[in-house]
Amino acid sequence: ELFTFDEFLTHWASERADRVALREEDRVYTYAELDEATARVASALFAAGLQKGDRIAWIGKNSDLYFILFYGAARAGIVMAPIGWRLSPTEWAFIVNDTQAKMVFAGPGFDTLADQLAGKLDHAPTIVGAAEARAMIDGATRTAFAPSGTDDAVLQLYTSGTTGNPKGAVLSNRNLFALRKHSSDLDMPYTKWDDDEAVLVAMPCAHIGGTGLGIMALAAGLPGIILAEFNPDGVFDAVEQHGVTRFFMVPAALQFLLMHPRCASVDYSRLKYILYGAAPIPLELLRQCIQMFGAQFIQAYGMTETTGTISMLPPEDHDPAGNARMRSAGKPLPGVEIRILGPDGEEVPVGDVGEVVTRSSNNMLGYWNLPDATAKTVSADGWIRTGDAGYLDEDGYLFIHDRMKDMIISGGENIYPAEVESAIFGHPSVQEVAVFGIPDDKWGESVKAVCVAKPGMTVDEADIIAWARERIAPFKCPRSVDVIDALPRNASGKILRKDLRAPYWAGFE
Ligand code: ATP
Ligand code: MG
Repeated sequence: ELFTFDEFLTHWASERADRVALREEDRVYTYAELDEATARVASALFAAGLQKGDRIAWIGKNSDLYFILFYGAARAGIVMAPIGWRLSPTEWAFIVNDTQAKMVFAGPGFDTLADQLAGKLDHAPTIVGAAEARAMIDGATRTAFAPSGTDDAVLQLYTSGTTGNPKGAVLSNRNLFALRKHSSDLDMPYTKWDDDEAVLVAMPCAHIGGTGLGIMALAAGLPGIILAEFNPDGVFDAVEQHGVTRFFMVPAALQFLLMHPRCASVDYSRLKYILYGAAPIPLELLRQCIQMFGAQFIQAYGMTETTGTISMLPPEDHDPAGNARMRSAGKPLPGVEIRILGPDGEEVPVGDVGEVVTRSSNNMLGYWNLPDATAKTVSADGWIRTGDAGYLDEDGYLFIHDRMKDMIISGGENIYPAEVESAIFGHPSVQEVAVFGIPDDKWGESVKAVCVAKPGMTVDEADIIAWARERIAPFKCPRSVDVIDALPRNASGKILRKDLRAPYWAGFE
């Protein structure tokens, strides 16, 4: 069985030498070419004096160049840290300093990176422009090198920073190919691949939903089609022209597709599976997607620390007629253990809400340079605390309520924002909604909803509250509704509730 980048690249170079491995616009690499280019990257990095265990960083959009650098470094056990290009230069510098990268690669279009980082770094990495990096690869000679081992670190992915500073999750070859292993053990139609499939990389490569999809294509020996950044036209073109059969998208991106005028006229006949996750999806949005795309839907639940997916809600549980399971994040994959713990760390009975904890070969090696955070998150016997509240039902389905930190306690009742948001989302005047708790003298906290109106519509407070009251228990309904122009979101499309909450809690926390 194959378990490292070096093994997969070598394997497909011999089995599928002339098949497409990567495509971005008109740049295409076959598996033979990918093998050659990545081996040269490894050789060039060693020639430049880097050693196994050293870090390199990437600041840029998705690119064929990123995947070649990452796979090449991974073959040699040099650790790639992709950094979100939407962050500010100060945030880039924070992460570059955290990695202590020896080389920082600028993606195409990021030619002023060196200037932007000037004066902000605490060490002196070599900053390499995109053209220079391509020349470095073209000019390198392939030399023999010792490939990285299954449990060696190869990727350092930063968490989305939804709840605090991003933390570097260190991932190994085994972690990154665990999804392939676990899903092939599941042995269902959607975990098997046809020879004519292709995977779209549409989410940012600094997130497991971007880089992970590239790895999914590599693991299957199929083409990975790269979009520099998410945009509806790019997705539609990839589906119609490049035969994309599977993609992963966060709920916010799916909503952008639906709102696009071209959406209803695209030919989706080759599209088989739409994977979605990374944030709770409003039920009404999921129903609209099922109606529009015709493809089969699979929900993925996981986190950076678990190398992405640990549970999956399969297509057969997506019955738009109102199957209660549509609210579930599915069942743990084979090989993945999931338990629900109460406040004292004891396992709670089936159906009770607690903190979701998990153990499997998906679990990261640890956080980079954060021994205290690692010790708080990972137990001595290998369980990761997700920080998410949820429960398991009698059939073993996992239901994610929300993050523990986002739970609202009002009048002694626990309220999970995602459920309230899902109820309000279906209102005809509402484009987006976020729910959180605000201080309340009488109830401790009270439920606040913040809505963005659909173009040309007005959101009415009393109307939203009445709509919610028809759908969820009165104690969960918002007591007040504000209207704003746009919700603050991070690059992973997650709502930044901490930013929304802050003005209400000033002076209280
Ligand atoms: P940080 O840890 O820095 O605050 P983050 O937790 O948002 O950021 P990620 O690792 O990208 O960083 O996100 C993992 C989180 O995303 C999970 O803990 C969970 O809260 C949420 N999530 C992922 N998949 C789903 C899903 N299918 N349904 C609901 N929530 C999900
Ligand atoms: Mg997290």
